[in-house]
Amino acid sequence: MDLIHSPAVSRRQALRLAATSALAAVVAACRPWTKDPLPVQAPTPTLRGPEPVEGESALERLVAGNARYVANRAQYPGHSTERREQVAEGQHPFAAVLCCSDSRVPPEILFDQGLGDLFVTRVAGNVVDDEMIGSLEYAVEHLGVRLIMVLGHERCGAVRAALEATLAGVEMEGHLEHLVKAIEPAIEEAQLAYGDAWEAVAAANVERQVTALRHSQPILAELVEAGEVEVVGARYDLDSGWVTLLEEPAAEESHS
Ligand SMILES: [Zn+2]
Repeated sequence: MDLIHSPAVSRRQALRLAATSALAAVVAACRPWTKDPLPVQAPTPTLRGPEPVEGESALERLVAGNARYVANRAQYPGHSTERREQVAEGQHPFAAVLCCSDSRVPPEILFDQGLGDLFVTRVAGNVVDDEMIGSLEYAVEHLGVRLIMVLGHERCGAVRAALEATLAGVEMEGHLEHLVKAIEPAIEEAQLAYGDAWEAVAAANVERQVTALRHSQPILAELVEAGEVEVVGARYDLDSGWVTLLEEPAAEESHS
């Protein structure tokens, strides 16, 4: 009895009560958020360049940038504070690149480009999935991109892993198996090719992803068909630094 009514206990209780009340007030204040839309304005629409760079011109820019990089004459465009401030207002990339996550294949560096120039989607083995396609659809629909390059590369670890796992008939651990499965069809297609199996599978894999993007319904296929978007495949040489376009479309037709 004495304990309960002692001033010390009452004070603690009072503090606890006060804390509970404060928490209740916060919860009450937050409650409308759970029922109503966030009390913020609609986001600013994505800015789109007035004149999208056509596919051919975009490809020329990439080729020229790669040549500068290989010749050790990089200009490092778009690395300035001014450029950062400019693109903070909106992005108008002139090309999209789907490439491998490999640390030796960063598109902005090997094409000598800067902030806001390239819309890049990267995943080990440069394979297409729905999220990748959605990203690229965003690039062409909302940012005005007219060129998509699928860029494979020499000595790709993901391709190697897929090749080894398939040849050995074993499953990779964890989610790596998903990558193997995505690259596996390219191994079958590459069996008709001569030469280095690792290289052949990497090339076949790029071709497969190019084909997948060109026929992706409902957006990319129509744009490609209408000639508004180009999808090209390319290979990066780790030793020389050169990016070379893969031949087409005979290879694509022979597979279909
Ligand atoms: Zn790779």
